[in-house]
Amino acid sequence: MSFESIYPYNGETIASYPAHTPEQLQDKLKAGHRAFQALRQAGVPKRAEWMRRVAELLQSQVDRHAELITREMGKTLKEAKAEVLKCATTAEYYANNIESMLEPRIIASDARKSYAAFEPKGIILAIMPWNFPYWQVFRFAIPNLLAGNAAVLKHASNVSGCSLAIAGVFLEAGFPEGAFQALLVASKDIEPIIADPRVQGVTLTGSTPAGMSVASLAGKHLKKTVLELGGSDPFIVLKDADLKTAAATAVKARMQNAGQSCIAAKRWIVEKSIAEDFTQQVQSLITSMRQGDPFLPETDLGPMARTDLAKELNSQLQSTIWQGAELLAGGEQHNANFAATLLAGVKPGMTAFDEETFGPLAVVISANDEQDAIRLANNTPFGLGSSLWTKDLEKAARLAPLIESGNVFVNAMVRSDARLPFGGIKQSGYGRELSIEGVHEFLNIKTVYIQ
Ligand code: NAP
Repeated sequence: MSFESIYPYNGETIASYPAHTPEQLQDKLKAGHRAFQALRQAGVPKRAEWMRRVAELLQSQVDRHAELITREMGKTLKEAKAEVLKCATTAEYYANNIESMLEPRIIASDARKSYAAFEPKGIILAIMPWNFPYWQVFRFAIPNLLAGNAAVLKHASNVSGCSLAIAGVFLEAGFPEGAFQALLVASKDIEPIIADPRVQGVTLTGSTPAGMSVASLAGKHLKKTVLELGGSDPFIVLKDADLKTAAATAVKARMQNAGQSCIAAKRWIVEKSIAEDFTQQVQSLITSMRQGDPFLPETDLGPMARTDLAKELNSQLQSTIWQGAELLAGGEQHNANFAATLLAGVKPGMTAFDEETFGPLAVVISANDEQDAIRLANNTPFGLGSSLWTKDLEKAARLAPLIESGNVFVNAMVRSDARLPFGGIKQSGYGRELSIEGVHEFLNIKTVYIQ
């Protein structure tokens, strides 16, 4: 078996990677376990020094990594560069802050001294998606390696080149051999890795069905999981919002990365008194987007990552139109290339409202008033991010707790930031990445009680 990397813009096969044999996988787990011991021995300052070198390498090699990303999954080169640089700044951020994040927490009790210590556990398996093939991986790997865990990565099958290149960065930066390894393994062959006693946790970023399947295997073998799954984030625009900024941000938040982001603004929920004005503004922005070659600097929208994904989005689009939505822009699909598309008149019960749409498809949903907007926002099985637009910040503070999601961004688009916890509720998963919460997920929080 092998994994093919295909340049989605023209369908050309760019590389083929043979899957690792079961023996090779065993060797990697052995190396991972050895590296775990070495990471523990090394201590925090040394690990932070290696991580600073990771940041430097990503900065100095940004072009090479960005080109690989664009070739394997089609995002524009400028987006790919920004992604690699975000990994670099996050590596630097954690290298500078990890010491205090791992500091034992002194807790007053009846003991002479008692505290909670944060200790690494072993190898953590990461199962990651192709949409941000560097960021999703680094966001998990940076805090875990700094905290002393080793990592093995099962990346999405279409981005094996990225997977191997990331492993190369950690090695070149000085991390012990085996500290971060790419496993070329199919989804169906993942159970023995999850079951292995050296593997002490599993983190998956991907679709909800993949999360359910991996979580049930992890449950069977009693391994902790963190699940960052799908979303259908509401982008709520109330009648007192700064409409021009809201419209421009809505388009960016939906269309970046060709719409293939878990936290994309997938449902624009707009108070009806401003819906027409908002729709005109977003329509004009969407129709002026330049689609094409992702390597050209003027391109706003590259291809989607795979033709099958573009076809699936097209079938969601067609069924939503058939259910009564109005097509205002785009709607064309050629292989992996999907035009920036706008639908109006979308309602609960229609496919683009009820399901996650993972591509450049924007939908306008009209709400009677702010209460109706919140009701519509929560009318989804997902609960990842949300964005709320109003000039009245007291109103925003009152409405934010009513939204069922892992975050609320007021007058801003949802984004991940190393300083802030990131994750979802409901079918968007559980657990948190980033911030101090993300550091502690796969650590042994050990109580020490001294009488
Ligand atoms: P996907 O098909 O679920 O794949 C994600 C990863 O899981 C891939 O490595 C895939 O491997 C693996 N996988 C799939 N089924 C598996 C199974 N039964 N057992 C073990 N591994 C399995 O998702 P995707 O299409 O790559 O990514 C899009 C989805 O990810 C969207 O739903 C999006 O919202 C979600 N996402 C969530 C976040 C977040 O932070 N919450 C971030 C980004 C994306 P193969 O490629 O080999 O199948």
